[in-house]
Amino acid sequence: MSPANRWLARGVAGFWLVNFLCLALLAIFWLVSLAGDPVSASQIAPPTPLPPSPTALIVLASPLDEPPTPLQPATATLIPTFTPTVPPTPTATPPPTATLEPSPTPAYTPTITPVPFASGPIVIGHSVAGRPIEVYRFGTGSTRRLIVAGIHGGSEANTIALANELIVYINDHPEVIPRHISLYILPSLNPDGAARGRGPIGRANENGVDLNRNWPHGWKQTWNRDGCWNILPITAGDYPASEPEVLALMTFIQYYNIEALISYHSAALGIFAGGYDYGPSVRLAEAVAEVSTYPWPPIDTGCEITGDLTDWAAAHRIAAIDIELSDHTHTDFNQNLDILRVFLNWQR
Ligand SMILES: [Zn+2]
Repeated sequence: MSPANRWLARGVAGFWLVNFLCLALLAIFWLVSLAGDPVSASQIAPPTPLPPSPTALIVLASPLDEPPTPLQPATATLIPTFTPTVPPTPTATPPPTATLEPSPTPAYTPTITPVPFASGPIVIGHSVAGRPIEVYRFGTGSTRRLIVAGIHGGSEANTIALANELIVYINDHPEVIPRHISLYILPSLNPDGAARGRGPIGRANENGVDLNRNWPHGWKQTWNRDGCWNILPITAGDYPASEPEVLALMTFIQYYNIEALISYHSAALGIFAGGYDYGPSVRLAEAVAEVSTYPWPPIDTGCEITGDLTDWAAAHRIAAIDIELSDHTHTDFNQNLDILRVFLNWQR
């Protein structure tokens, strides 16, 4: 072998020796790695995310059809704010006693509007010809009393004048009404007769009916005219309470639970007690007679009374009287003011 070939042979052998040593080191390193702790998955570095593809960039860059999802508000605002509950202040509750009744608590407390002292006119109905039948109220007491005037119009129109004078007076002197009283005044029950004129022609209503003979107590279609008003033809109506004026007042008296009344007429015969011997009516007539010059007992002309307002009222336990003024002209105001005071303060 030539020297050159020997150096070549040594080079090749050295190359292979180095290779062998490297392989041997690799094998040893591998064996040592197997013998040590295994590499956990968490120690494996995650793959490097791919950069977004050009398509994804285009989608993100395109205009959004949907509005962006609103950002979540700050965490602090999501935490509900708690208002600390203040424990109720302990109140000393008296021990229940057997005699105490629990007072009912109203579920609804209405707003109380004060009732005015006076009101009216209240229209309680209409006459045959359609005229309103009006009532005025004074006072707010629970005891309700009534003055009726003009049940006979015409010659008795001075009773309407008296009622209107009393209305004016009470408006100016509300103290005349006791606290427990509500006084109602109906100035003209027969407005059609009153409109027809003063005198006998105005006595009946538009149907030719005497409104003080149409009440459903002792009603008669005909009666003995001796001693009675008989100047012009007049009837008692076709049946009791056939007339709208009577029906309106009858309904009013019952609805408002009137417990005493005066019906004014003229002229001259005095004070009549409804129901004849009905005690409350008689006692009211006696009380009124003490402050008036009107005859009591009344002058008896022998007239048969039928279908009378005060008799009907007495039959319904209402103290009721007729009062006839002195004539067909004057209102006898001062005397009837005294009667008013007695009437309002009278106790049945
Ligand atoms: Zn009369």
